[in-house]
Amino acid sequence: MIAEPERPWDEPGAVAVAPGVHRIPLPLHDESLHAVNVYVLEGEDGLTLIDSGEAGTASASALAAALRQLGHGLEDVRDVLVTHVHRDHYTLAVALRQEFGTAVHLGRSEEASLRLSADATRHSLATQFAMIAECGAADLAVEIARDDEPLPASAWEDPDVWLDEGQLKVGARLLDAIATPGHTRGHLVFRDEAGGLLFAGDHVLPHITPSVGLEPASVSLPLRDYIHSLRLVRALPDTQLLPAHGQVSPSVHDRVDDLLRHHEARLEAIARLVHGEHSTAHDVATRLTWTRRKSNLDQLSRFNRMLATLETKAHLDVLAAQGLLHTQLDHDRVRLYWTEP
Ligand SMILES: [Zn+2]
Repeated sequence: MIAEPERPWDEPGAVAVAPGVHRIPLPLHDESLHAVNVYVLEGEDGLTLIDSGEAGTASASALAAALRQLGHGLEDVRDVLVTHVHRDHYTLAVALRQEFGTAVHLGRSEEASLRLSADATRHSLATQFAMIAECGAADLAVEIARDDEPLPASAWEDPDVWLDEGQLKVGARLLDAIATPGHTRGHLVFRDEAGGLLFAGDHVLPHITPSVGLEPASVSLPLRDYIHSLRLVRALPDTQLLPAHGQVSPSVHDRVDDLLRHHEARLEAIARLVHGEHSTAHDVATRLTWTRRKSNLDQLSRFNRMLATLETKAHLDVLAAQGLLHTQLDHDRVRLYWTEP
């Protein structure tokens, strides 16, 4: 393993992380995640990127500058393999294609969300607003809806290739595209078995617990899918973790174990908190603490309050599907959860 230099992971420039692989952090319009990593794979017939960053001049020029450091330009990027359809992973790929003819590859199961993202008449979080109303916190949606900065529909054009699971040849390297639904329904990770690398996208992140089901075409139990996908990756031989946000680290297994433990503890805590009472997901979210600082829900930003409430709903829905809680919509279409007294 090539050790990363001692510096903040989001500092601009290309960092060598494995033979023939560089990590390039690119800026985001929303600074809460600091940056998004693009991985550059060098091959004889050009460069392949894993994830692209977000459309916009700041990230395109940061990518161009980092590629220049490696003796390349944006025009040398032949293909972009995108882990999932979120704006910070997909949309710069589309912009590169418009200028340089780069081929864009995206998981087939992202198609429904891509179609909804391209619908300019629809708020990018419309699905989450409907869900947050069901959680008993409709007022949060009204407040968040005001700060939308939508991208034009042209940012959400179709990829050239809809990816399925299976092997991809990238230069001399073989990558396995593995479906890991949960963070989004069509999320893929790319595994280089011989090189001992997992390009994990947002499936496994080193510092934060990835959100689940934050996508226009939502599924009914994203947390169940996510935990299943964590176990799937855990069952493979261990490799280095190359995440979309944060530094490269030596073990996928170690981080997956942390994430599985986190969700197990959260499911247990949430099951205890609804004991006997009719509660909404928002009620339960106010009884939990959030982030490493153990903040109360009302100390978080509005957007993070929404994420926290949706996260709680995802856990409650898994518990209900396991038969550990009862659930029903009330007359106002707010969902209640309870256990037998
Ligand atoms: Zn994402």
